[in-house]
Amino acid sequence: MTGEIFDIKHFAVHDGPGIRTTIFLKGCPLRCVWCHNPEGMKPGRDLWVKQEACIHCGTCIQTCREQALRMVEGEIAIDRGRCSFCDACVEKCPSRAMKRIDRQVETRDLVKLVTREEIFTRLSGGGVTISGGEPLYQPEFTLELLKEMKAAWIPTCIETSMFAPWEVLESILPYVDQFLVDIKLLDEEQHKKYTGVSNRQILSNFRGLVEAGAPLLVRIPLIPGITATEENLRGIRSFVSGTAPGIPIEVLNFNSFAGTKYRFLGDTYFDEELRAFPAEKLSELRKIVEEEG
Ligand code: SF4
Ligand code: SF4
Repeated sequence: MTGEIFDIKHFAVHDGPGIRTTIFLKGCPLRCVWCHNPEGMKPGRDLWVKQEACIHCGTCIQTCREQALRMVEGEIAIDRGRCSFCDACVEKCPSRAMKRIDRQVETRDLVKLVTREEIFTRLSGGGVTISGGEPLYQPEFTLELLKEMKAAWIPTCIETSMFAPWEVLESILPYVDQFLVDIKLLDEEQHKKYTGVSNRQILSNFRGLVEAGAPLLVRIPLIPGITATEENLRGIRSFVSGTAPGIPIEVLNFNSFAGTKYRFLGDTYFDEELRAFPAEKLSELRKIVEEEG
C-alpha cells in the first residue's frame, strides 16, 4: 500500500523504548500553534527552502516555468498557488537548499528499510515508531504498515494525538506494542484555542485505550504559558490517574528550534521568543505530573 510521509529518522532515542526507526506520516487534523513539525501538518505536495543553505544564485527562479519563485528581502519565496511541483528547481539548486517535503512510499519498502536497521535497534529493545503529523490521519496506510511490521517481527510503537474515530484506534490495537499518546490541554476551550479542535474525542479515546488494556505512555509537550501551567499539569495528572492508576506520564521540553522550519515554509512562528525550560524548572514541572493526582 502507498502512503505519504515527510521524514524518516534513523536511530532515534526519544521515540519509544530503545533505539528506533521513526517514520513521520504527512497530514494532521490539529493545528497546534507551537507545532514543531509544521512541514507535516498539511497533506499533499509541498516544498521548502532551507534559507541558511541558499547561496542566492537565482538558478531556481530562472528554472521555474510557472514563475512561482521570487527573491523577497534576500530569501526565496514560493507561490504555492502557481507551483506545479515539477521539481525542476529542486534538481537544479546547487546547494540543495530547495527541498521537496512529501514522499510517496510503499509499506513493503518501509518494512525492508526497518528490517535492515534492526541489527542495531533490536539489541537496544527498539523497533519502529510511526509518528507524524498524525499517523491516524492516514488510517488505512497506518494499519497496513503496522500489520506488515508485526508480520516481520518488528516491535511497534505509535505516537498519536488520539484525535480520530474510536474505530480507527480499535483497528490498530492488535498491532501496536506501545502507544505514546499526547494529552496537551485538559480544558476544552483552551484546547480548541491552541490546537483548533475539541479534546472530547481525545479524552474519550484515552479511556477506550485504557479499557482495552493498551500499553500507554502519556506525553505532555511543555509550552511556556500554555500547557506548562501548574493547573493544566495537575489536571492531566488527575485525569490520567483517575482513569486508571499507574499509567506513566512524561513531559517533553519545549523545542525552541521549531521557528526555523516556519521560515523555510515562508511562515512565521507564533512566538519566536519562547525558550526551552532550564533543567531545574523542567524537573519541577516533571514532579507535578509524577505526583499521584
Ligand atoms: S517545483 Fe517546479 S513549478 Fe514549483 S517552484 Fe520549483 S520549478 Fe517552479
Ligand atoms: S537555486 Fe538554490 S541556492 Fe540558488 S537561489 Fe535557488 S534556493 Fe538558493
